[in-house]
Amino acid sequence: MSSGAAGEARKAGLAANLARVEERIERACATAGRARGDVTLVVVTKTYPASDVRLLAELGVRDVAENRDQEAAPKAAACADADLSWHFVGQLQTNKARSVAGYADRVHSVDRVRLVTALANAAVRAEREIGCLVQVALDAESGSVGERGGVAPDGVTELADAVAAAQGLRLDGVMTVAPLTGPLAGRPLEAFEQLREISTGLRAAHPAATMVSAGMSADLDEAVLAGATHVRVGSAVLGQRPPLR
Ligand SMILES: *Cc1c(COP(=O)(O)O)cnc(C)c1O
Repeated sequence: MSSGAAGEARKAGLAANLARVEERIERACATAGRARGDVTLVVVTKTYPASDVRLLAELGVRDVAENRDQEAAPKAAACADADLSWHFVGQLQTNKARSVAGYADRVHSVDRVRLVTALANAAVRAEREIGCLVQVALDAESGSVGERGGVAPDGVTELADAVAAAQGLRLDGVMTVAPLTGPLAGRPLEAFEQLREISTGLRAAHPAATMVSAGMSADLDEAVLAGATHVRVGSAVLGQRPPLR
């Protein structure tokens, strides 16, 4: 698929980018006094082809993420033999739950009870267990959903309890995207520290829900400093994506 000179050049470019990201993670871990092994790099491969996913697998990447089912489903199928863990990180409609349950090991974007129900039904039907993270919109008003998905902080407990009680689902932790609006805009460290506090509160009731998914290409350093266990990195590894239409 990606054989030949072009494939080799692409692989070398991805390797160099991965090395730079790895260096950032290591440096942030050292600053925070954390072990490198406490942080998992999840590479967000959206808009990039399955051939890139395969190259990443050859370079040792084990966790990849996608944000649209339409794109993710065929890509995951094309890479089914690559021993990868697939993370779904985008806003998810309930009518896509069945498809996502077919390939996703984890869904980071659980933000409403209706989606919990749909994912649970789909997981049971597919005879799979799906790890779920409650997506928190740190800038959402109480009782509402964030513009880019996520539940307001005061809705986390109810959703977490729903996931924990659902068949076919496992409550793995919490996720956020640094807010673009409100008092935390432009302050990713503070935002991610708030997520860590939410995680600490959640673990009192659900001790196994240890995942804290935070940080992207621009702010993975702050995320590691604030205790993230998983950073979701796209463009710093694969290159700038064309702007969304
Ligand atoms: C695209 C995306 C990322 C990665 O963003 P980059 O800035 O390319 O690193 C992380 N998380 C989510 C939810 C995304 O949609």
